[in-house]
Amino acid sequence: STNDRTVGIDDLPIRDELRGKSPYGAPQLDVPVQLNTNENPYPLPEPLVARIAERVAEAARGLNRYPDRDAIELRTQLAAYLTKTGRHPVTVENVWAANGSNEVLQQLLQTFGGPGRTAIGFEPSYSMHALIARGTGTGWISGPRDDDFRVDVTAAEQAIAENAPDVVFITSPNNPTGTAVEAETVLALYEAAQAAKPSLVVVDEAYVEFSHRDSLLPLIEGRPNLVISRTMSKAFGAAGLRLGYLAAHPAVVDAVQLVRLPYHLSAVTQATALAALEHTDTLLGYVEQLKTERDRLVDELRVIGYEVTASDANFVQFGRFDGAAGSHEAWQKILDRGVLVRDNGVPGWLRVTAGTPEENDAFLEAVRALKKEQQ
Ligand code: PMP
Repeated sequence: STNDRTVGIDDLPIRDELRGKSPYGAPQLDVPVQLNTNENPYPLPEPLVARIAERVAEAARGLNRYPDRDAIELRTQLAAYLTKTGRHPVTVENVWAANGSNEVLQQLLQTFGGPGRTAIGFEPSYSMHALIARGTGTGWISGPRDDDFRVDVTAAEQAIAENAPDVVFITSPNNPTGTAVEAETVLALYEAAQAAKPSLVVVDEAYVEFSHRDSLLPLIEGRPNLVISRTMSKAFGAAGLRLGYLAAHPAVVDAVQLVRLPYHLSAVTQATALAALEHTDTLLGYVEQLKTERDRLVDELRVIGYEVTASDANFVQFGRFDGAAGSHEAWQKILDRGVLVRDNGVPGWLRVTAGTPEENDAFLEAVRALKKEQQ
């Protein structure tokens, strides 16, 4: 029959590099406290919901037409936001937007990576970098981090010199460790990457609004091969919106348009994102609360007796458990107490997203109990 389940993916004539692979995604389990996907726990405020309805209604009246293919109004407002918060003036010409920063990263790899080319990331890091590389036929090189999960500049420079990758990913703050990267490190790796190839350096700042440090946006000045990638999924509390963006030299913005699908950003998406940007100040207020809660999680986890990696993001990496088996067991025991955290496959460590104060209390109670049990 049409739905004969004895036929699987590998029976189809798919690309060899996709054989035997699973799709990316954390388990979406229905438990009371979900602190596993680095989402913002606060629903959008009602006045913003009303404004979205208004702007979407306006957009709906024109849905018989294709949307603005160049998303000029949205890119202009994103540029204004970056200029206001990033200590560096940018304009519509410096900004490009797509459906989540994942699509931004995919477009970058379609443009600057691809068959016969390679990309490097410093792992553990955001695993989608490697998966988007695979999906675009880009070879993947796993670069090193030190024991404290920082980018080891000398080792990284050496890996870049040896491999001469076409694309270098630097995630700051890093996911899943929370570690921020110094501007000097980015500059050193940029120099190494230019000397080796030259290559495109992508700084993934998905979590930068939660950082103790400023954005690395000013570094794009005079560096046409440096890209800053951002998202509205975290700080703007709009993971469901699917809106990511980049800031770079206008030539990079021109280049990604060679691979973008025409009208990739729907009129509904553009209208919703514009409404959210009107409420930036309120949304950044939630970010401040989450930073306080993040710092509280770090402090209390240490008091309980866990090791914690210093965090500049809206999540915290904690451990140590006894290798991969230990972290998986701990993950299950925390889940048994109704709290879902993330096992990112970093042996001995788990990651918890900062939630509301109540959610964080529930998490802390669960790990306090776990600690008692394991002592
Ligand atoms: N970069 C990093 C480091 C992330 O952790 C994430 C989301 N988990 C993304 C990019 C992608 O986010 P989005 O596509 O929702 O913008």
